[in-house]
Amino acid sequence: MHTIDLLLSHATVVTMDEHGTILHDGAVAVHGDIIIAIDSTAALTARYQAAHTIDCQGCAITPGLINAHAHVPMSLLRGVAADLQLDVWLFGYMFPVEARFVTPEFVRTGTLLSCAEMIRGGTTTFVDMYFYEEEVARAADEAGMRAVCGQSVMRLPSPDASSFDIGLERATRFIDAWHTHPRITPTIAPHAPYTCTDEIYAQAVELCKKYGVPLVTHLSETAREVDESRVDRHATPIGYAERVGAFSVPCIAAHCVHATDEDIATLAAKGVGVAPCPTSNLKLASGVAPYLKFLNAGVKTGLGTDGPASNDDQDMFSEIHLAALLPKGLSGDPTAMPAKTAFSLATSSGARAIHQADRIGSLAVGKQADLVVISLGALHNSPTYTYSADAIYNQLVYTCHASDVRDTIIAGRILMRNRELLTLDEQTILRDARRIASEINTFLANREEHLLDKILAISPIQASEIFEIQVKAKIDPSDTHAIRAILGAAPFIINRQNQRTQYDTYFGWNDLAQGRIRLREDHRVDAQGRTPPYYTLTLTEPVKRVEYNAAVQLSRARYTAPAHHTERFYREYFQPNHTITITKERQRIHVTFRDTEFAINIDTITSTPNAGMYVEIKSRTWSQRDATHKAALIGDILQLLGIADNRLIKDEYVDQL
Ligand SMILES: [Zn+2]
Repeated sequence: MHTIDLLLSHATVVTMDEHGTILHDGAVAVHGDIIIAIDSTAALTARYQAAHTIDCQGCAITPGLINAHAHVPMSLLRGVAADLQLDVWLFGYMFPVEARFVTPEFVRTGTLLSCAEMIRGGTTTFVDMYFYEEEVARAADEAGMRAVCGQSVMRLPSPDASSFDIGLERATRFIDAWHTHPRITPTIAPHAPYTCTDEIYAQAVELCKKYGVPLVTHLSETAREVDESRVDRHATPIGYAERVGAFSVPCIAAHCVHATDEDIATLAAKGVGVAPCPTSNLKLASGVAPYLKFLNAGVKTGLGTDGPASNDDQDMFSEIHLAALLPKGLSGDPTAMPAKTAFSLATSSGARAIHQADRIGSLAVGKQADLVVISLGALHNSPTYTYSADAIYNQLVYTCHASDVRDTIIAGRILMRNRELLTLDEQTILRDARRIASEINTFLANREEHLLDKILAISPIQASEIFEIQVKAKIDPSDTHAIRAILGAAPFIINRQNQRTQYDTYFGWNDLAQGRIRLREDHRVDAQGRTPPYYTLTLTEPVKRVEYNAAVQLSRARYTAPAHHTERFYREYFQPNHTITITKERQRIHVTFRDTEFAINIDTITSTPNAGMYVEIKSRTWSQRDATHKAALIGDILQLLGIADNRLIKDEYVDQL
């Protein structure tokens, strides 16, 4: 009689091995961190004397579930923002909140919260991508979990690295410190092609080669990302990843929702592991990954939860459930994704996807003892049929919930027994999580109140105080010639002039005290006759006006930022009460008139039918006296141009049209 550490007996053992072996009244013998035997309960109790025996009557024993894509510290951001486009969600909420709140303590607390949830739900291995990844590794190790921990790198400044070189250094130190750990695989994770560069991928690949670790990245998550990649990088994100060498090392690619047929052939040929995230892909409306094409092409396919802010939980049972249903609904074929295949995505196939099939993913002698005991006696998952080998898969996939997991064992160590966590203190974790969340809540509440804070959250801004004296008058197109001729002769001196097309979108609010935001796309004809667009975002606070006979003096605080996103992005992010678009062709003439500089615009409004043409005269001013002086000069200019007082308009286009 051999003495062993642990014997699990009287269970339905679902091995997920290549023969699909299932044992009724089966048992699993564990010694150290290894499975040393799988057989009938009678055979193993006769053979082994176990230090610890767990009776699994009425339960299934399956391999621990593998979450192939997650951002576990983000459990602290669960529920922060939902029902938004990916870019608004990411650039408008996640990045600004992360820039401010992500610290080692945040990462540690969020990871512990996620580990507790995952152990409770039968997940024994996860693949992560985040910042301060050494804290993820440390917390996962303390919890007793198995993890691939990817230190994120990108070209933008991140919470733990002000530039890519610093991120690369962090990743190198992290991998060097952890690469011999038995359960934690440290690595580097270039975030995605659209946030990285060729060089970032190349250096990440070098690091992975040096330490023999897999590369983690996001690829082809949305259709827009693929379209933009074709324009910017002349390849799909997957084609690009191959070009920059990402597939020359074992790669774990999250999502791949929009993989083309050619992409799928590449993924299969290069042995890339893919990790679609059904809930996240649905919630962010990214789409449904081509699960069947992946499997038919032999792509190593797993499943992930993605970050809890886009999911919002880390429940692999619900991911398996969706992966079983979605292909059926899309194909109209109920045989498309059998329950057994769906379950394999989080076990045997998932282990291949994360390049650890030699160690985990199925119950087999010599493999790591990562296993879960699932109760089959609850109201919602009873009764159990045994006449067909496949019946157990139906029960696991279509009726079992995360809360049916009774015991969780990783590397032979019991982390949950009878639903009690043995390595983590749930109350302390919850208390810490609530404290951090309340700080984030206050930050977001304040930000939502002030437009300036909302702009600041997404871009650097330039503030200026504008004092301007200006007037506008409607003119006939036939006047243009005469006006230009007058400006071209004494007493005017033309200093410079240019021509541009301006597309202005104004976002306004019912509460006028909020100010107004203008998104301007400015096409100015340059020296080569081209019209490259410039995009700016300008917040103007409510204007103070002083009226003169011939002009109006405006003073206002103005904040300008470069605009990198689309109009749709800003509209969804700022949520204005109304949007007005004004397009105009502008001839701008800078003149000196009696030693004073004026900008004279001849504008044709093209967005409003019959809005017509205008001449606008403007000058910067600094003082009341200067303004009075310039208002008088503007009166003189108007007279020289032959524009009568009754044609003057003192409102801005956006208020007038
Ligand atoms: Zn992700």
